[in-house]
Amino acid sequence: MTPEGDALGFLQLCADKRYHRKTMDAFEAATALTGPDRYWIEATAGGAAAFAEPTLTARYAYENGARIMGWAAHGDGCGGFPGRSDADMQAMLEAAARELLAEFPDADHWLLFGQGGRVEVSPLTRSGSSERA
Ligand SMILES: [Zn+2]
Repeated sequence: MTPEGDALGFLQLCADKRYHRKTMDAFEAATALTGPDRYWIEATAGGAAAFAEPTLTARYAYENGARIMGWAAHGDGCGGFPGRSDADMQAMLEAAARELLAEFPDADHWLLFGQGGRVEVSPLTRSGSSERA
């Protein structure tokens, strides 16, 4: 079994009915966390953009081995942030995720953003670029 096959993860996403499943599918495809028991989730209106700090659930997952962490939000109107533009949502997500990089230093971090019915996934690095180091 490869190390990837043993990996555990955590995904924080919006509860939005249009995007929660697509976000999970995109996270699994990007990270090879394919089994039903490979990662924890935390869903709330607004997704990762709604939390200013690491949640109890995120800390629990990290303390129990999650080393692939996904931070998700979406555009097209989010119930957690009525009236916000897609660009606002994307900026809020990125700002939140950058805070979380420092909180979970041993994890690989991914940004997931839903828009137009699709979910874009990109690695988030400590250098500030969105390319993998
Ligand atoms: Zn939402």
